[in-house]
Amino acid sequence: MSIRCFGALAVFSVSLFAQGPVTLRVDATDAPRRLFHVHMSMQAKAGPLTLVYPEWIPGEHGPTGPITNFVGLEVKGGGKTIPWKRDSVNMFAFHIDVPAGVTAIDMTYDFIAPSESSGFSAGASATTELAVVSWNQLLLYPEGADPETIQYQANLKLPNSWKYGTALPIRRETGNEIEFQPASMETLIDSPLSAGAHYKTVELGTDRGLPHYLHIAADSDAALDLKPETQAALEKLVKEEGAVFNSRHYRDYHFLLTLSDHVAHFGLEHHESSDDRVGERTLVDDSPRTLAGSLLPHEFTHSWNGKFRRPAGLTPDGKDGGYHGPMKGDLLWVYEGLTDYLGDILAPRSGLWTPEQYRDFLGDAAANLDNEYGRRWRPLEDTAVAAQLLYSAPADYDNMRRNVDYYPEGDLIWLEADVTIRKMSKGAKSLMDFTRLFYGGASGKPEMKTYEFNDVVAALNTVQPYDWAKFLNDRLHSTSPHAPMGGIEGSGWKLVYDANRSDYQKAVEEVRKASDFWYSLGFWVKDEDGSLNDVMIESPAFKAGVTPSTRLIAVNNRSYTSSVLREAMRANQKEGKPIELLIKNGEYFKTYQIDYKGGERYPHLVRNDQPDLLTQIVAGLTK
Ligand SMILES: [Zn+2]
Repeated sequence: MSIRCFGALAVFSVSLFAQGPVTLRVDATDAPRRLFHVHMSMQAKAGPLTLVYPEWIPGEHGPTGPITNFVGLEVKGGGKTIPWKRDSVNMFAFHIDVPAGVTAIDMTYDFIAPSESSGFSAGASATTELAVVSWNQLLLYPEGADPETIQYQANLKLPNSWKYGTALPIRRETGNEIEFQPASMETLIDSPLSAGAHYKTVELGTDRGLPHYLHIAADSDAALDLKPETQAALEKLVKEEGAVFNSRHYRDYHFLLTLSDHVAHFGLEHHESSDDRVGERTLVDDSPRTLAGSLLPHEFTHSWNGKFRRPAGLTPDGKDGGYHGPMKGDLLWVYEGLTDYLGDILAPRSGLWTPEQYRDFLGDAAANLDNEYGRRWRPLEDTAVAAQLLYSAPADYDNMRRNVDYYPEGDLIWLEADVTIRKMSKGAKSLMDFTRLFYGGASGKPEMKTYEFNDVVAALNTVQPYDWAKFLNDRLHSTSPHAPMGGIEGSGWKLVYDANRSDYQKAVEEVRKASDFWYSLGFWVKDEDGSLNDVMIESPAFKAGVTPSTRLIAVNNRSYTSSVLREAMRANQKEGKPIELLIKNGEYFKTYQIDYKGGERYPHLVRNDQPDLLTQIVAGLTK
């Protein structure tokens, strides 16, 4: 039998495990050492049983379950150890044979919280001061179990005096132990928890009777200093998000914001919460706060676009929790692309960004896509189909490979769709009519409705008749060397390059700890060690022979700093002195001479002669 076959077995498992909840007791008191100890028990019937560890994690669009950190498994039944055997094909499945007379089994195991900075929720999640608990990392389920039906009774013990936040309903608290209400596996996995020694919960307001919370876990008390203007913007975000969709598909909503330089940085959406992880000083310092401006709007938008409405291909079995995969990413330009567009325009609508910061962001994204050599071979749709490969692709030759471009190119395409609707309807309608139609419905509890490409086209046509299938297909299958600029140009702006770095671009350099020579010489340089992760194909540096994954050591015989290189570019431009770059490639050094007279170049959006729709688009819809 194939390990991915869920025919008769599914019926068997569902009927068996509908009898009582699985109990899941997690001891997180060793979280500061990155260890979680688990005791799980469930009813069982004599005979073969396969226990599975979640592999495909919703929202991560890939097989990212951290199975290598699942250790110490011991299974017992009737007081005796039951041997287990891992499936030799599916590394996430463990086979046991439940002995005759045994009616319940107990499993003990440990989870090692990862230490790597990459890998989304399977990346670093615990420090000495805080932890993010992702239940998919801590449980097993009987193969074929229905994630909506199988119930888990979870219990969590935290380090003394740690506070916590989660969307998972709580039954009672005793000391540092939390007992949750029984929940389906789907709801449990969809409801992570953050906890820590430095912790703060802020109420962000109620809408349609549904409350919203911000829970902040940080590596220090100082990092918890939420500025009044940021809090006001997040309260406005709650209202603005409601104006985009006219519905709310959750009982309450919880932003779990984790502030640490020692956890993986990303955002992961859930129906009733989001797991948002950024650097420790993001609320306190201007540059990281600016760069994080659209993170919470993006993840919040996913409650509608991604969790409530989801591409059918991302739901194996048509279930919310198809943890055995495989997931098909071909519609991620809707799931992520439209979320990115909406999240980005919600940042200025709420006051998390100024309209100018939004334009600086958009100009950067558009320029990056417009200079991507890989556009010539790889259409946008393939970046979505290959999402499970591209999220973990290396940085070198990224410009040739392309990356998860359905995010930024989604910004451009959905802006163009928005502008098209506004123009064709003479201002009577906008993309918000589409979002209210496609993502609307009754508010108050999580639900999921799947869709296909034709459903998106049909809903767009209901709002504004047009050949939307052609509009989308042209952009999804294009191998033009240029990015689709119709949205930017149709909304009254155009992309230009000049020698001035915007404040937004300076903030990007500060947070990345790197200097931007991308649109001039053709690379970014890491401040710390001169690393060149990527070199733009056909840029002056590339033509001179410079290779990615090397280090820039010196400029014109002087140690590299960004100021030394910028000065050399000025001298080249004014006096014609060539720029000599000493580069270390493996163990060898070589000097490359670049004759580049273009000076510094940074992308910006400036007004063209069309009416300024973009400023209207980023204006708030609520008071
Ligand atoms: Zn997303």
